[in-house]
Amino acid sequence: MIVALQRDDHTAREPRPAVREGPLQPVLREYKPQKFGNETFTRDFKAQWFKQYPWLSYSIDRKVGTCYVCSKFMNDNTFTFCNWKKTERLTKHHQSEAHSLAMTKWLEYRQMQRKSSSIISIIDDGHRNYAKRNREVFTCNHRMSLLHCPTKHRSKRP
Ligand SMILES: [Zn+2]
Repeated sequence: MIVALQRDDHTAREPRPAVREGPLQPVLREYKPQKFGNETFTRDFKAQWFKQYPWLSYSIDRKVGTCYVCSKFMNDNTFTFCNWKKTERLTKHHQSEAHSLAMTKWLEYRQMQRKSSSIISIIDDGHRNYAKRNREVFTCNHRMSLLHCPTKHRSKRP
């Protein structure tokens, strides 16, 4: 029994696959300020777009916006966003058919991840309860043996 418990503990300690996945959405003070056309002011990538478009990923190395879902679920890396003036490109991509399909796949993937992580926690709970029960049984047996053992002392009492 003890051997089996130790083996269980060892498996529980093994690293689980990383659950934290998703687009890279760094919130920076400055991304890549640029002037567009004849404009006299600079425009920059806006962190608020992450809220509007949850699939939007920002590559710090390349200084462009990309689509996380199309890249991950459709192997399509063609969408890049680097003209901060043309925000309609984000809307257009957001509404495109291929992208919608990728979004559905992402949703399903996340649901599956949630399900499997809840299964892991059920298994963990099961293991904890099992270990707790074993401890209780042990304590109970231990107490019983203490009660039954000292017969000699009991006979000494008046
Ligand atoms: Zn996309």
